[in-house]
Amino acid sequence: MIFMVEEKTTDLFEKVKNSLPNLDISDIRFEGCEIVLYTKDKEFFTSDTIEIKELVSKLKKRIILRPDPSICIDAEKAEKIIKKLVPKEAEIKDLDFEPEFGTVIIEAEKPGLVIGKGGETLKEVKKETLWLPVVKRAPVIPSDVVKVLREIVHKESAFRKEFLDKVGKDIHSGWKPTEWIRLTTLGGFREVGRSALLLQTPESRVLLDCGIKPGTNEYPYLNVPEFDIKKLNAVVVSHAHLDHCGMIPYLYKIGYDGPLYLTAPTRDLMVLLCMDYIELSQREGSTPPYSTKEIKEAVKHSICLDYDEVSDITPDMRLTLLNSGHVLGGSVVHVHIGNGMHNVLYTSDYKFDRTALFEPASNKFQRAETIITESTYGSREDIMPKRQEAESQLVDICKRTVERGGIALIPSFAVERSQDVMAILSRAGFEHPVYIDGMIWDATAIHTAYPEYFNRELQKLILQQGENPFTNEIFKRIGSTEERKKILESKEPCVVLSTSGMLVGGPSVWWLKNLAEDEKNSLIFVGYQAEGSLGKRIQKGWKEIPMENSNGKTMAVPVNLEIVTIKGLSGHSDQKQLVNYLSRLKQKPERIIVDHGENSKCLEFARTLHRIFRCETLSPRLLETIRLK
Ligand SMILES: [Zn+2]
Repeated sequence: MIFMVEEKTTDLFEKVKNSLPNLDISDIRFEGCEIVLYTKDKEFFTSDTIEIKELVSKLKKRIILRPDPSICIDAEKAEKIIKKLVPKEAEIKDLDFEPEFGTVIIEAEKPGLVIGKGGETLKEVKKETLWLPVVKRAPVIPSDVVKVLREIVHKESAFRKEFLDKVGKDIHSGWKPTEWIRLTTLGGFREVGRSALLLQTPESRVLLDCGIKPGTNEYPYLNVPEFDIKKLNAVVVSHAHLDHCGMIPYLYKIGYDGPLYLTAPTRDLMVLLCMDYIELSQREGSTPPYSTKEIKEAVKHSICLDYDEVSDITPDMRLTLLNSGHVLGGSVVHVHIGNGMHNVLYTSDYKFDRTALFEPASNKFQRAETIITESTYGSREDIMPKRQEAESQLVDICKRTVERGGIALIPSFAVERSQDVMAILSRAGFEHPVYIDGMIWDATAIHTAYPEYFNRELQKLILQQGENPFTNEIFKRIGSTEERKKILESKEPCVVLSTSGMLVGGPSVWWLKNLAEDEKNSLIFVGYQAEGSLGKRIQKGWKEIPMENSNGKTMAVPVNLEIVTIKGLSGHSDQKQLVNYLSRLKQKPERIIVDHGENSKCLEFARTLHRIFRCETLSPRLLETIRLK
């Protein structure tokens, strides 16, 4: 447990210096909520620093010791030493020296081998080079996004050093007892899409999520007096679905220049999806609300947190992100306010069940007096079949299709559902080719950089047994019309996994056009189909689909292929799982606020929760402000 430090920055820095009288400290700074010391004392830097450990427990602050850049040896020499010390099998992919921080980033496919037993190899690197080594995992499937992102962060290290220090100073600018806490609903209430919540105290203004509403021009209400972008202290992103993060870059366009808190995989996937969103908007002839420049700004201002890492983000708010079981890096967001006065849990989207990829959503926090919960499947009728049944149904239909010589088309969202399908097929020993079309490959590549976010079983398979389901050779990347045509002409039975998930744009529509007529083929729905989408229409029984041919003429294509909808692969909890999660919290909540559901679901779920928990339950409309304390 860390306690709030009420003293001013200068006092805090003095205290640190006075506690280490024999140490040559050349600089002392903040990096977000952490304190960083730079030293010219080589011996102190390379020895096990008992004094620092004592100071950490005294100040209840994380402290990092770094070398003053003047003592680091020449980068070229250091590189040779590192390559000599680290075993070849570690597969070092990149070495980046950041003199501003006195660090060297070692990116390798097997980080464990860089670290060595008990951290021995790293200690040697530190001793011989006088650089502070930081180890990162290289994705097993090369990812352009991960590469570009890491390059941006690396190139901007001078900017980030100043920025992180400023963020730290703001966090430590003194704390007064919190008099009140309010929540304003800017988007995603009594609707699905454009999630955005403003959490305020007299000291702090924090925005939780900022998404788009796919398929519409509706954005969160940022144009209201309640929301002043210049006064915003921090922004938190729960996960990388566009309805939660699609408008994050826009905040940097309208003048926000503060920190963005999220997990590293959320950052990477957010960039991929926002880039795609820009492209898609342009293709449809509409002007996207921001450009790649603002996506880059969001990256520059990102502060990545690990799950369960507790971090001060304003003078009176402390943030913890915990696994939400929903997508890679997705989080339930816990905010501890006013030195324990009140705790808010914003669940965002969560799955309280084990999936092929993730553990169930975590509830490992002590208290949550106010809970804001999603209600996507919050109605009594929302009962999902058992996960296992859904998984075997998927494998069966894929096998059935290829055995009769057909092609099985699975339209899928690029993030999560696709990797879920890949993991299920790989685990079932499926032997026919599975072609991966659209953005899915890039999203999967990002997944391979973060195996520690998967469930224990999958982690063990990848990290200990060396069996990565995503590198299974049945998966083949395709991307061009030429490649697609070749597959059709070869008449080879196979599975095609393709975006978009609701058959609205993307290569999945091309595939459907070419597969619909032949009854040997099949169309497998594995995710949510929104009203008005082609996917929903087919589910409702459309027997013909209008398609434009190569001459621009509209023709009707008969739908003869087998159509199967698999429920139960959802990344959301059904009503029972939602209630189970909330029932198993350590403390009974005082108030539950329902969001992220159709109007009727929000209302019904709030009533259901009231019956069960006998506490205040609300399903506010958009633009309401609720006093939490
Ligand atoms: Zn989501």
